[in-house]
Amino acid sequence: MIGDRIKQARKASGLSLRALGEKVDITGMAISKYENNKSIPSSGVLLGLAKALHVKVEYFFRTTMVELREVEYRKHSKLPKKVLDQIEGDVIEQIERFIELEQFLPKTPVKSFKLPEGLPDVIEDNDGIELAANAVRQSWNLGTNPIPDLIDTFEERGIRVFQSKALHDEKFDGLAAEVNNIPVIVVGRDWPGDRQRFTLSHELGHLLLKGRLVKHIDEEKAANRFAGAFLVPSSEAVRELGANRNWLEPVELCVLKQTYGLSMRGWIYRASDLNILNNAAAKKMWDYFRSRNWVKQEPGEQYKAEKPKLFIQLVFHAFGEELISEAKAAELFGWSISKFRNIRNVGSCENETIN
Ligand SMILES: [Zn+2]
Repeated sequence: MIGDRIKQARKASGLSLRALGEKVDITGMAISKYENNKSIPSSGVLLGLAKALHVKVEYFFRTTMVELREVEYRKHSKLPKKVLDQIEGDVIEQIERFIELEQFLPKTPVKSFKLPEGLPDVIEDNDGIELAANAVRQSWNLGTNPIPDLIDTFEERGIRVFQSKALHDEKFDGLAAEVNNIPVIVVGRDWPGDRQRFTLSHELGHLLLKGRLVKHIDEEKAANRFAGAFLVPSSEAVRELGANRNWLEPVELCVLKQTYGLSMRGWIYRASDLNILNNAAAKKMWDYFRSRNWVKQEPGEQYKAEKPKLFIQLVFHAFGEELISEAKAAELFGWSISKFRNIRNVGSCENETIN
């Protein structure tokens, strides 16, 4: 129904009934009636709404409606409901476009998600979590090496990764949910890569550890431990750092960060988790990092942010095979036709081009 679509787009934009009404010169009450399907907007009003909400008019007529299930917000976000609605609306919109795109493809080239083999049924301690992380690496044929492109790795295994520009608040870390039985993870679009990668791995931890942890294990801590173990298996941590250390040089950590995509702080945690650093040594490291203000902002170059590629790839696949028109391709991206043509002409898929 058009009303539900209007409501969804309005929530995604963060506008109140009244604020939206003001933008299109009608009352908030009238908007409310549209949203509740008590009256139907004229085509002129619909155009105005589309413009004010930054969507195409076609958006209001899209028939797929999805709902995020089992939404888990990291750190039990204290963000206002309005912002949470905005993030969810943004993500739902992207998921719907994905589902619409898939309807044009004769055979979905995307594998459906399967639980990795070899996960322990019951996890009683940290060793169990390390085992689980190793099992995932083995089941996904990742070996023990650094994982170069984590988003790609997830997308290939049927986990949908989306980015939201509404996710910029420090207090908000990530979101894991389920849509039509497909696991979905959302990370911030403008985050540095190491933060994206830790969040992705943390959310994967939630997805896989849920229901396996014995009662006394805190799921948040377990997901953090899983994330570290997944990004840097214990064997590699020991190989890189040595079994016992008194101090880790920041430059050493900076090199490892660039190799593994785990932050310098992440490496300190990992080293204490594995007792490579004892408590006193870890405390010394943290004191030093705090004194240099490196807990908030790590020194050196940031790890390059990742970007989901599957959607872009599939839209151009569908367009290349003439399964969708130019207009539909542009609409799926939320671009004008001229922008679509430009990007197609340039032939580049760099982040700066496609955004
Ligand atoms: Zn969590």
